[in-house]
Amino acid sequence: MRVLKFGGSSLKTAPSMLEVGQIIMTDKERKVVVVSAVSGVTESLLQFIAQPRKEAEVREFIKKTRDLHAKLIDEAVRSEKIKEDAAARLDKKLEKLERMLYGISYLEEVTPKTKDFVQCYGERLSVILVAAMLKDQGVKAVPCDADELGIMTDGVFGAATADLDATRWSIVPKIQEMFYNGEMPIVTGFFGVGQDGSVTVFGRNGSDYSAAAIANALDAEVLEIWKDVDGFLSVDPKIVPKAVPIKTLSYDEAAELAYFGAKVLHPMTVEPARAKNIVIKVKNVFNPKAEGTSIQQKGDEQIECIKSISCMRNLAIIKVFGEGAGYRTGVMTVISQKLSDADVNIYSAVTSQTCIALLIDKKDLGLSRKLLEDIKEGFISRIETSEDWALLCIVGEGLGQSKGIASRVFNAVAMENVSVGLISAGASLVAYHFTVHLKDLERATRAVHQEFFGC
Ligand code: ASP
Ligand code: MG
Repeated sequence: MRVLKFGGSSLKTAPSMLEVGQIIMTDKERKVVVVSAVSGVTESLLQFIAQPRKEAEVREFIKKTRDLHAKLIDEAVRSEKIKEDAAARLDKKLEKLERMLYGISYLEEVTPKTKDFVQCYGERLSVILVAAMLKDQGVKAVPCDADELGIMTDGVFGAATADLDATRWSIVPKIQEMFYNGEMPIVTGFFGVGQDGSVTVFGRNGSDYSAAAIANALDAEVLEIWKDVDGFLSVDPKIVPKAVPIKTLSYDEAAELAYFGAKVLHPMTVEPARAKNIVIKVKNVFNPKAEGTSIQQKGDEQIECIKSISCMRNLAIIKVFGEGAGYRTGVMTVISQKLSDADVNIYSAVTSQTCIALLIDKKDLGLSRKLLEDIKEGFISRIETSEDWALLCIVGEGLGQSKGIASRVFNAVAMENVSVGLISAGASLVAYHFTVHLKDLERATRAVHQEFFGC
């Protein structure tokens, strides 16, 4: 049994949707298909509710969204009957969305709950398209919404985590029944439902994670994540055009790369798969013959080597100075509590006796500074901030085992006359990361890539 997930860019045109159909129909094996919203749709929903709207704008927005999906159905489906059925399903969903958007426009207020309710509509619509396209090809495909199917979450709006046990209890009997009837479930990615019934999303690009949760529940042999790139590469090809494809990664390597900026996979995807030892295959819809990347318990044994370099931009460093910052207990707890209460993510923390340095998103800098200045405990003597930082993360199982890699990395960077800010190594055995000024990022990345990959 396999779970296949398709990203929004593969649903953007009728020919690419039909390509998706070909991939799904290559064999007769039982499968569950998980899809993202058509690309751009989630963004348009979020933008629409980001400002006050008039009734006429709601009507126009619904019409535009309907037309976009109806056109895709029209082009990808031949049977008039299937087209009509899909159009009726679209209308039913859009009617509910429209009512919610009127509600928001009257109240002029978007709560975390309504935001999640609205932003998952892209997926509720895209499953209708994919199921119609497959039905037209003779597959008994059934569109399923994650909340009705029972993908259960911890109920945290905007960044939910799947409750894997509860999900298993609720979805397995339903999916088995569908399989028994010869049906193929086409499931919405991106969201699930909390115990209290509220819709909660897994964060942007969360459909990969939905697919992993379903694969876990069903004990799938393989989880295929179909994207518009040939899997993971040794570096961002926009920085180094000769980036090398990576055949295998361990779960840890993939998790570190996804967390530190490689946009190939949602960072949480690895965990549900790892728990059941399910191989994740990342493949390209537009180049299905390419091998892609396999993610599994152990990557290949190129212990000498690093596998990949990932980059993050738009970071800032905040330094908290105070006497005995390193020696006094509890300082880090107070600081991290303050920041986590405000949803500020700390990517890295380095402490010394006189200073604690934190790496955060640039957009959180103003708020973080204010929150830390408000700490009255008295151990903070001064706060310094600097922005326009970027992070380079070097990943490979080899890092924990072979010697001399760090010196090669920093030598390569020094030869380019780039100075390094914070360094963190050893937290995970498979990743080092360090910060450089944003303006130096591409130069430093090219130098490190050249050192290890020769191009
Ligand atoms: N449609 C959602 C997003 O754009 C989820 C996904 O694409 O995986 O973030
Ligand atoms: Mg997406």
